[in-house]
Amino acid sequence: MSFSTQVVFAKMSLQLCISNIQHIFATVLAWIGVRGPQVRLTSTGKVNPVKALKKNISKPATTPSSVNYHFTRQCNYKCGFCFHTAKTSFVLPIEEAKKGLQLLKQSGLEKINFSGGEPFLQDRGDFLGKLVQYCKQDLHLPSVSIVSNGSLIREKWFQKYGQYLDILAISCDSFDEDTNQTIGRAQGRKSHLDNLFKVREWCRDYKVAFKINSVINTFNVNEDMRENISELNPVRWKVFQCLLIDGENAGENSLREAERFVISDQQFQDFLDRHSTISCLVPESNQKMRDSYLILDEYMRFLDCREGRKDPSKSILDVGVEEAIQFSGFDEKMFLKRGGKYVWSKADMRLEW
Ligand code: SF4
Repeated sequence: MSFSTQVVFAKMSLQLCISNIQHIFATVLAWIGVRGPQVRLTSTGKVNPVKALKKNISKPATTPSSVNYHFTRQCNYKCGFCFHTAKTSFVLPIEEAKKGLQLLKQSGLEKINFSGGEPFLQDRGDFLGKLVQYCKQDLHLPSVSIVSNGSLIREKWFQKYGQYLDILAISCDSFDEDTNQTIGRAQGRKSHLDNLFKVREWCRDYKVAFKINSVINTFNVNEDMRENISELNPVRWKVFQCLLIDGENAGENSLREAERFVISDQQFQDFLDRHSTISCLVPESNQKMRDSYLILDEYMRFLDCREGRKDPSKSILDVGVEEAIQFSGFDEKMFLKRGGKYVWSKADMRLEW
């Protein structure tokens, strides 16, 4: 082989080698998550891995500014459409839960909502109270709220923890006790409404903003709630359209069969029209609801509801917030569109308690 042939051969080998390295680099980047438009091509059509990596690092991650932490799935009610059912009895030790909340705060958490199951069930409300106190006193979160069915709350709880709580939302779907019984929104024959009105008074006495959540379904869709809602005078009345979630209240392995509760979009709209004079009403259709919440389950895993079921990420306690949140299915635009960011600290509210 002549000398010039040897040079040409060596050059070709070198080029082949470089292109292989570039290919391997691009594959690795794609594998670790630098995909699609983030993999930048040079003018020669080759991947510029340094730029690609820089771009990915500088891309702002989703901020968990508002998170719903369903720390328990246990509940004393049996609502037929429940979409967070008692599939496990697991509850994290409180120190682990606090650690997770601290991680969220470091990632930009401003509003935490504790939900369930029934959050007042664990340790007679003490587990919840301690978390509420920790979030306000230690983490200084602007907003700490709870969603509860209201049946297990005692005045003592308000005396101890009320000062740390911004908002308490009580679920109420009907002002007719028989309808509540039919829905399953009750424990035995106990009155759901008596509790609702009692808790409303305590919120006034202990200066906690009071909210109502209602799920509109086959059994309450024709009800007129204007008078009762006006009397209770909540800061917000959230009105949800009954939603099917595979594995929770629909499909195989679910603990509920909510199909008979489902209403059409038109029925939901008719309900909203009937209550259009209520200024604090905030409607949430199925579409708005599905992707616009950051939901953490009892293991502190984000739940992705985009496929109509709840697909869990890894726990933020194992992989950190930034990695777990990528699997949350959270639609930040929809969150803002549905008015997810509102005046959520009681310090900023002008309330006539
Ligand atoms: S109150 Fe009803 S909807 Fe809420 S967790 Fe209990 S059973 Fe489910």
